Amino acid sequence: EAFNAAVAAAKPLNAFLVETPDHALAAADAADQARAAGETLRPMAGVPIGMKDLFCTKGVPTTAASHILEGFTPEYESTVSQNLWNAGAGMLGKLNLDQFAMGSSNETSYFGNVISPWRRNDGGNAPLAPGGSSGGSSSAVAARIAPGATGTDTGGSIRQPAAFVGISGIKPTYGRCSRWGTIAFASSLDQAGPMARDVRDCAIMLEAMAGFDAKDATSLDLPVPNWEGQLNASLAGKRVGIPKEYRVDGMPAEIEALWQQGIAWLKDAGAEIVDVSLPHTRYALPAYYIIAPAEASSNLARYDGVRYGLRDLPDGANLQEMYARTRAKGFGDEVKRRILIGTYVLSAGFYDAYYTQAQKVRTLIARDFERAWEVCDVLLTPTAPSAAFALGEKSADPLAMYLNDVFTVPSSLAGLPAMSVPGGVDASGLPLGLQVIGKPLDEQGVLNAALAIE
Ligand code: GLN
Repeated sequence: EAFNAAVAAAKPLNAFLVETPDHALAAADAADQARAAGETLRPMAGVPIGMKDLFCTKGVPTTAASHILEGFTPEYESTVSQNLWNAGAGMLGKLNLDQFAMGSSNETSYFGNVISPWRRNDGGNAPLAPGGSSGGSSSAVAARIAPGATGTDTGGSIRQPAAFVGISGIKPTYGRCSRWGTIAFASSLDQAGPMARDVRDCAIMLEAMAGFDAKDATSLDLPVPNWEGQLNASLAGKRVGIPKEYRVDGMPAEIEALWQQGIAWLKDAGAEIVDVSLPHTRYALPAYYIIAPAEASSNLARYDGVRYGLRDLPDGANLQEMYARTRAKGFGDEVKRRILIGTYVLSAGFYDAYYTQAQKVRTLIARDFERAWEVCDVLLTPTAPSAAFALGEKSADPLAMYLNDVFTVPSSLAGLPAMSVPGGVDASGLPLGLQVIGKPLDEQGVLNAALAIE
């Protein structure tokens, strides 16, 4: 009954692409049986979660919200989802997203946009973007349909949607969560992470998701800490850095006020506030929008009409024609734009000017952070430069859309753990998020600072 009510509530949001009630119910039954038998419950026993449809789930269609994967049903389970089932969780369904996780509003999905459950309180009743790319995840958790959902974050796709709908989400250090079985966008940046109502739930869920996996060459061979057990909102002795370069031109006064409020809360929790400089910040967004499309163009070469999903092969067509027709039909406009940019910046004549240069910038950005860690333990910034925008507001202007990632992209390029936590609301009552960025492997420091804000 509860499931059917949740499904009914979810329909207008378009958050789910596939519903899997039996999976969630089986986990709930297993939890009931374990409880009845007096067994120790697994950390996520019976918890019904939503699964971003970028994770391959055995026997359950997986699309990356793209036409090109329509009809694809994986014969294997992603490591992250398997880890969650091993922890006792069950799956409510597969969640909508920006196509191949490319976007900041969930509007690039082949299956239609997701609608945020929020509305402005100042009369404007236009449906709002739930953020992206994990827009089904943010929307389902914010609407209280699922207590938690998986996200993936390449340049902000967990943090920005979490901020837009007033929930929490953490991207761990690159390598904490296995990428095996997660459909690749930009492999050197992609990281899975949890999105949930509060910091504690994120800690529990991340513990379940993370861990070494020999099937992912970039997986970190380190034990998973007991993050939840060590949550502590006292920041005595901790130094919080405020990077001056994040005070960007045209930042709304409300975002600046939110940031000041966050600083005050962290001070109250015992932290010392220090000003820091990350001088290459302004080059992060252009570097990201070269590196991510470059990797995407390579990763997406596998969708050729032979191995997965869609195939457009009319009678008499040859192999080349099949490739071209399948890809022309199967990929959405934003995906095509990324493939074009990616193949261009990787082409022989332009490789050094764009791709090599962007990689050098990436190193400089990582060094900026390393220098900051000499004087602080975590960094505090806003998550996004605006509250949720109306659906359609930015969809005609890719650059305006890309600019929304300005605060989330630098820490992605540096592979650092970063979290968005609700910080307040703007004048129209819409949620605003604060971002905590941590040292490599210091998810604990990030979670603790976020807890002090929450
Ligand atoms: N909005 C960014 C992009 O479109 C980030 C997406 C993501 O993190 N998956 O590339």
